[in-house]
Amino acid sequence: MNDVVMCPKCSNKLRRGYIFSSRRICWSQSADSIFFDYGSEELIGDSFLKVRKIPALRCEECNIVIFEHK
Ligand SMILES: [Zn+2]
Repeated sequence: MNDVVMCPKCSNKLRRGYIFSSRRICWSQSADSIFFDYGSEELIGDSFLKVRKIPALRCEECNIVIFEHK
């Protein structure tokens, strides 16, 4: 992720930074609220002692954050 990346919405240059969470981040195609997230597709796992930071790109105009997960 070394090239300049443009925002998909406004085409401004995205700012580089890091996104992090002390909890896992999951993905769902359904907007329904859930009580338990077990079995969800996990993009970023739980972190214990150290919080892992994931390189991300952000547009402050559109409030969009793009990050690459493994
Ligand atoms: Zn934008």
